[in-house]
Amino acid sequence: MHSSPVNERMSSLIQVTEKGLYCAAADVFIDPWRPVSRALITHAHSDHARRGHAAYLAHHHCVPLLRARLGARIAARGLEYGERLRMNGVDISLHPAGHVLGSAQVRLEYRGEVWVISGDYKLHSDNVAAPFEPVPCHTFVTESTFGLPVYRWPDPARVMRQIDGWWAANQREGVASFLQAYSLGKAQRLLAGLPHVRGPIYVHGSIEQMNAAHLDAGVKLPDCGPPPRLHGGDGPAPLIVGPPSVQGSPWANRFGPISYAAASGWMAVRGVKRRRAADRGFVLSDHADWDGLNEAVRATGAERVYVTHGSSAVYARWLRERYGLDAARLETLFGDDGENDEDLAEEETPPREDSKPDHPSAAGQTKKSEASPQGAATVASVKSGLNSGGER
Ligand SMILES: [Zn+2]
Ligand SMILES: [Zn+2]
Repeated sequence: MHSSPVNERMSSLIQVTEKGLYCAAADVFIDPWRPVSRALITHAHSDHARRGHAAYLAHHHCVPLLRARLGARIAARGLEYGERLRMNGVDISLHPAGHVLGSAQVRLEYRGEVWVISGDYKLHSDNVAAPFEPVPCHTFVTESTFGLPVYRWPDPARVMRQIDGWWAANQREGVASFLQAYSLGKAQRLLAGLPHVRGPIYVHGSIEQMNAAHLDAGVKLPDCGPPPRLHGGDGPAPLIVGPPSVQGSPWANRFGPISYAAASGWMAVRGVKRRRAADRGFVLSDHADWDGLNEAVRATGAERVYVTHGSSAVYARWLRERYGLDAARLETLFGDDGENDEDLAEEETPPREDSKPDHPSAAGQTKKSEASPQGAATVASVKSGLNSGGER
């Protein structure tokens, strides 16, 4: 197993190093988690776009978001989708990931071999992010935040009508509506997707700052701004969009009686709503669901798939067993670092007390044992091959 083709390919174009995913041929990192000289950034969420790199390369709609979060003076260069850049003989280009504004999949081509690193993605279009485009490749690095069959998203337009109905019902009771949303991505998607503006819409300062970059990029958002210092009781009850952290704070309490709702992929699982202390939960995610992941993986035509985020080991096994792909889990620091830092919780992190089922039903159908010996060997050998410094 030590000299499996997986390892050879892996060492030839992309490796996992202590600093992150690295393309040695081009001497560039993708979404590195430690400071490096050149970083390709898939999107501006904080587990992918970190401080301290000497140079940032991202989609040009991502650059203002990076500046807003990491500082106006970072050295950042913007690329168009599909624009080709050559670094030491490696052709590099960015392609829409449909996740948030300016989010991109990174395509690398070297001596006829093509790799695509997806970053985070979703297949539903949302009037905010450029819609996801499958990019043919030999090796695809996919996320699997919701890589279990229990995660299947309802039609987002229907969910937006449910949110509208919730706001209308609260107004009839004279109650303000507070929608929890992380400041980059979910907030703008909710605002842009509202079927009706039923009254004033107020947003938290962290969201206002991100909204400005969206408006500059041509995204259409309804009129919204900071709430007045004292919210009067007259007129239709407002919709408030704010990060979960301000729930129950003086900032939120000024609105008087208030109903809280959360919109997230985690709402697809019973029991999560209560943990987030919301009165209502709406199933709306900026990540691909189970069917979306499978569709995206197959659309690339890749024979080799590496899986990051969330249910990566289970999902990699599913890809091996169901589609016969050469698939393995890739250990990264994406998606699971929202524990202490509020800003890092932006990414859709699971609630702390995880209510994910232990065994996915669909994956369980093919083989009810734990990871097959072959699968385990593949993962182990790939992991030892990937972590150049050995196990951490
Ligand atoms: Zn993200
Ligand atoms: Zn992520």
